[in-house]
Amino acid sequence: LVVVSTTNTFAGARLDRRGERRADPEWIAGRLADPESRALVIAPEGPLLDGDRPLRVPTTGLTDPIFLGEQDGRALFAVGDAPGASGDPVGLRDAAARVSHADAGLLAYATAMVSWHRRHSFCANCGSPTAMAEAGHLRVCPDCGAQHHPRTDPVVIMLVHDGDRVLLGRNARWPERRYSALAGFVEPGESLEEAVAREVCEEAGVGVGEPLYRSSQPWPFPASLMLGFHVPYVSGEAYVRDAELEDVRWFTRAELTAAAAGQSEFHLPPREAIARRLIDEWLEEG
Ligand SMILES: [Zn+2]
Repeated sequence: LVVVSTTNTFAGARLDRRGERRADPEWIAGRLADPESRALVIAPEGPLLDGDRPLRVPTTGLTDPIFLGEQDGRALFAVGDAPGASGDPVGLRDAAARVSHADAGLLAYATAMVSWHRRHSFCANCGSPTAMAEAGHLRVCPDCGAQHHPRTDPVVIMLVHDGDRVLLGRNARWPERRYSALAGFVEPGESLEEAVAREVCEEAGVGVGEPLYRSSQPWPFPASLMLGFHVPYVSGEAYVRDAELEDVRWFTRAELTAAAAGQSEFHLPPREAIARRLIDEWLEEG
């Protein structure tokens, strides 16, 4: 039996975001001055950890702290750097393997916010330097007045199934012999259902039916939200149509079961990836 977690890795942060307080500078200043408040430090290489927990530093003297929310009544912020902070920066994927599920969600949220600020110093409308507002949940352009909000870019990821087999692809950049579900960015002016059909056709040349939504996963590398689907195969012969892919092929249930158990020449995505959950759920429900 395959045991499937109910919440994907990088979701499940346990905090109250208190979004209604972000635009209240006095309240935010009070929380920053509170000795009980803490901040997570997200270096460019990844979050700072203290053993198997995120490092939490006091909030006095921080530059551009971002308000994440409250945990047990204590305010929690995120910063890109903190004076005197000691801890090891660990890449977010590796950090997620070391900390609790809830803390992995918290680090994903903090990382997404800090890296958004790192990449959006200038106004996309007029090119002027922008300033942080609303406790880090907005950037405002002083020249043209444009407001810029943190981005989350939707990506559809789908397991194409046909009776006792599923269609997987192999990206040339992945570890050898790893196969996974097909995926791609949703384009402007497109529904999720249309994106699923278009991506499967562009990558593997096959037609699909109505997609069934399964679950989603924040994927802050740097700003994606993975939206997972199962979708039935309808027509066409599968072949590689996309330059990024090295191979697409059908896998039988027996082949996938062996690969999931590590008893195959083929490898599946790691368990923290929604692609693996889509596969595991298909195996479990078969
Ligand atoms: Zn501007």
